[in-house]
Amino acid sequence: MKLSLFSLSAVAALALVLSPSPSSSLPALSKPLSVVTFDNHRVLRIQVDTEAELQTLTANEGALGLDYFTHNKVVGGHVDVRISPASYQKFQALDLKYTTLVENLQTVLDQERQEDQQYQQVFAAKLSLSKNSNKSLNVAVEGADVYAAADTWFQGYHTYADHQNWLATQIANNPSKASSISAGKTYQGKAQAGIKIGTGANHVVLHGTQHAREWISTMVVEYLIDQLLKGTDSRVAGYLTKYTFHIIPIMNPDGFVITQSSNRMHRKNAQTNGGCLGTDTNRNWGYKWNTGGSSTDPCADDYMGPSAFSSPEATNMANYLKSLPKVVSYIDFHSYSQLWMVPYGYSGTRPGTYTYMNGLAAKAVAALKAVNGVQFTNGDIYNTIYPASGNSADYAYSIGVTAPFAVELRDTGRYGFSLPAAQILPSGQETWAAFAAILDNIQA
Ligand SMILES: [Zn+2]
Repeated sequence: MKLSLFSLSAVAALALVLSPSPSSSLPALSKPLSVVTFDNHRVLRIQVDTEAELQTLTANEGALGLDYFTHNKVVGGHVDVRISPASYQKFQALDLKYTTLVENLQTVLDQERQEDQQYQQVFAAKLSLSKNSNKSLNVAVEGADVYAAADTWFQGYHTYADHQNWLATQIANNPSKASSISAGKTYQGKAQAGIKIGTGANHVVLHGTQHAREWISTMVVEYLIDQLLKGTDSRVAGYLTKYTFHIIPIMNPDGFVITQSSNRMHRKNAQTNGGCLGTDTNRNWGYKWNTGGSSTDPCADDYMGPSAFSSPEATNMANYLKSLPKVVSYIDFHSYSQLWMVPYGYSGTRPGTYTYMNGLAAKAVAALKAVNGVQFTNGDIYNTIYPASGNSADYAYSIGVTAPFAVELRDTGRYGFSLPAAQILPSGQETWAAFAAILDNIQA
């Protein structure tokens, strides 16, 4: 999991060579884009029933190099972790209770990649056809008709370049409703690009992909954009006069590119810290930073960073939130676990307006379930789920955002971060219902 600077530059060069283009054939599966592979890495669900088990897990997680896929590391909870074959024998000797969710993670990733490649070939063919037939047209983005077609777009996952083209197309096609925004530049200088929709005095800020490997969050946030711009929901016109939406599909583009070029399981940003790659930006926000549920180990997946707001990605988003006059909701979309959470994460003491926020979350969960029968759980991060300090929702609440949420999308561990593309559309549809329930019930 440790990437040296040398291997990073090699990865960047490889990504350039292999970046998909409609005119070149896609790389075969025998030449994986991913430089880091996970052959015989298992995903285990560890049940923590006693204080002694919790201490055993905590005392050994660093040496075992556990990669926490979920973070409910409390007595009575369970965590999903990735473990290497080398560490698995040592782990078994600890005598903790666990079940095996995935026997060989690389098999899951290969299947995901195969599905991706088949879809990418169809998508590239459509783009190529569009470019050839529209050569004389002066369009903002080549292949704009393909990017604009929701029935194609939400059938699969996309490259970073295609996400940029998709966003540019939405903005170009909706000049009366939308304009482009950016929270700022990432560590590597990429824009944290998004779209502003609507004219209302009440501001709503959403983003996906703060954690790089949580790909469904990008697609669901884009689905919400699509619904606000051209959905058939009769309530939308009212939303666009009551609210102004600021939506950034990929909050952590540096990390997202890493998941597509070198390490599918990368979670953090691209800052180098003591030989390990990345800060967990969602433990780096400057409210009650370093007060529990985050790590000081630069190699840990929930590394908090050397100081609060040491990551430009969290700092930019915080400044963007602070620049708006009246933010009535903020939603930070993640995966996975099916949770709709409200502050606090740093403390079990509930905030003064907990009842209001959790009431909105309960309405969201009910509306979500009504679409496809999928059950989410709502509650405050600390009590319902896990302690996590330095997170975005706590920060948003601390600066006066009245209803901030942290959402964990599908699923509950069957596929984890590699949610099949067939679940993109239903995930988008149910999340739209949840989002609309919040918009209908916000006190503004
Ligand atoms: Zn996350």
